[in-house]
Amino acid sequence: MRPALLDPLFAPVSSLPGIGPKLAKTFAKLVGREDEARVIDLVFHAPSSVIDRRLKPGIAHLPEGAIVTVEGRVDRHQPAPARSNAPYRVYLHDETGELTLTFFHAKADWLEKSLPVGETIVVSGRAEWFNGRPSMVHPDYMVPAEKADTLPAVEPVYPMTAGLSAKILRRSLEAALERVPDFPEWVDREIVARQGFPTTTEALRAIHHPRDDSDIELQSPARRRLAYDEFLAGQLSLSLVRSRMRKAKGRPVRPTGTLSQKVRAALPFALTAGQEQAVSAILGDMATDTRMLRMLQGDVGSGKTIVGLLAMLAVVEDGGQAVLMAPTEILARQHYDGIAALAERAGVRVRLLTGKTKARDRRQIETDLADGTAHIVIGTHALFQENVAYHDLRLAIVDEQHRFGVHQRLRLTQKGLSPHLLVMSATPIPRTLVLAAFGDMDVSNLTEKPAGRKPIQTVTIPLERIGDVVGRLRDALAEGKKCYWICPLVEESEAVELMSAEERHETLAKALGPDKVGLIHGRMSSADKDAAMEAFKSGETRLLVATTVVEVGVDVPDATIIVIEHAERFGLAQLHQLRGRVGRGAEASSCILLYKGPLSEMGRARLSVLRDSNDGFRIAEEDLKLRGEGELLGTRQSGVPGFQFGSIEAHGDILALARKDAGYIVNKDPELVSERGTALRTLLYLFRRDEAIRYLSAG
Ligand code: ADP
Ligand code: MG
Repeated sequence: MRPALLDPLFAPVSSLPGIGPKLAKTFAKLVGREDEARVIDLVFHAPSSVIDRRLKPGIAHLPEGAIVTVEGRVDRHQPAPARSNAPYRVYLHDETGELTLTFFHAKADWLEKSLPVGETIVVSGRAEWFNGRPSMVHPDYMVPAEKADTLPAVEPVYPMTAGLSAKILRRSLEAALERVPDFPEWVDREIVARQGFPTTTEALRAIHHPRDDSDIELQSPARRRLAYDEFLAGQLSLSLVRSRMRKAKGRPVRPTGTLSQKVRAALPFALTAGQEQAVSAILGDMATDTRMLRMLQGDVGSGKTIVGLLAMLAVVEDGGQAVLMAPTEILARQHYDGIAALAERAGVRVRLLTGKTKARDRRQIETDLADGTAHIVIGTHALFQENVAYHDLRLAIVDEQHRFGVHQRLRLTQKGLSPHLLVMSATPIPRTLVLAAFGDMDVSNLTEKPAGRKPIQTVTIPLERIGDVVGRLRDALAEGKKCYWICPLVEESEAVELMSAEERHETLAKALGPDKVGLIHGRMSSADKDAAMEAFKSGETRLLVATTVVEVGVDVPDATIIVIEHAERFGLAQLHQLRGRVGRGAEASSCILLYKGPLSEMGRARLSVLRDSNDGFRIAEEDLKLRGEGELLGTRQSGVPGFQFGSIEAHGDILALARKDAGYIVNKDPELVSERGTALRTLLYLFRRDEAIRYLSAG
């Protein structure tokens, strides 16, 4: 149960004064919550910069473009002439000179009331010079001199969203801040002292009421304190889960090799040395009674699937069951198609279970899993949301881990199951991030690509030349090539994204022949998706227009061209993933990044990294540099931490400290029952890491 101390913070924002349903929705958008924003989300909404209004050099000395505060006497008003677009002007002076206040479309009576002639007032805003005269357009503040102290000297500036005014955000934030209680100290006192940390409550107040910009800097004591809290919550929950998983003894897997031999014999290729190493590391892990927690990292196309299959076969040989969980339905189906064909030949029974499986089939599959008829089940996270019981689950594989939350992983253990766990990740994740996100898993890397792969040639072409590109595609299709066309990512709306895909499909079908061009997107029924994939695989369609549903894992080895429209809208890691859809066979492949100019500096940097490198690890590192760790790990909703206060680059030292501290805590007080343990439970709830608490027997 969440400590009552936190209840006011976890109430919906609509419990704050002046926030109705509409504003509540705006706030949900602002803080990136799909359901509803809570008070704590506002409290955690950190400013990105500050406006310093302390500069008061006098009217004659106002620096061009600077935010300044001026105190002066109002001399006269010059209303806009009727029916003109000219602004309304008000003049005031101090002992150094005269300042023009300029207002467009302003109400005269309001201005007369706010700026009475003869009064001394204080205004604050941006100074601008025109023809040698200082002016201020729409001051941010105008207050009578005797109320000068109501004007904030230093004002935090927040990330905003459409439909929200700074004033309303400010007001709501103040109300939210009032709900912040005094928390019990959960950080080790020695660390608090040595780091010079303020309390969490003080730190939250400090970032929202900065005295100057040093208060919101990454290295300010307040920010470091909050980053430490956040890291500690994350590391602690990982350590708790991990120690639970470790404690649950794994059952040693003793493979006979009969099935894997058959499957290996049926493969049209030999495993690479890296694949062999990974397989033996996995078999080695599973041979002991300690549960395996291993991550298999390998760039797109490095051949992780077969490694996973061999691990599953080992389990089946020993009489157990294995699950393979994929992030999307398409991917689950593709795994199913590939794996079932190979495995069933060896007498292994494979099932597919996704959210789209029909109720009747689902019941049969559930029976097969419960009585042990099925050996391997492949599916999406639906596998864990439903009441699926296993006869003897010994191995769980999670493909494309970065798309999965810790939640799904935990659900497994919630079912009282303690299978060995293998996660496969295509987005190469730098070591520090692995540690931050997953704790200290063992890692196998597939660094070499299967032999005979040709590098992908990547070119960038401005969108205006789309006609040339279509022309080149026509030639390529005529030569029998296959091609993906990825439609732009539309952040605001899935509906718009869909529309653009449908439109692109239509124009390309017209240009290249309607029967040659297929379409696939996330809103299609699974039967239609299947049909579209199948038609492309078989070569019936030769160009597949797709939204990013093909991003992860889709495998059509003879597709050799990929066009990515509006490449500048995608992240680096995502572009690399998409590009990995080609270059999977022996044919040379190419990737065409169509971009809309002019590119920002960042956009140009990103595209050139991609053009110059095919190395996923390098790209991941560049991505980290360019974008920060949160995005690399995927979105917040996926349950993988993007950090709110912490920055892995800037706060590496305290991340390491938090890891050590978390390990120490779990050793010393594994059930979190001491006084500090109780405080730490509050911390876990505060940062929404409370899933882990359910694994404490005393929780
Ligand atoms: P990823 O690591 O991206 O999941 P896949 O497992 O989908 O990669 O493998 C990509 C392609 O490479 C598949 O078509 C697979 O059959 C093929 N492949 C895997 N291992 C080898 C190998 N050792 N030699 C040749 N091709 C391989
Ligand atoms: Mg894969």
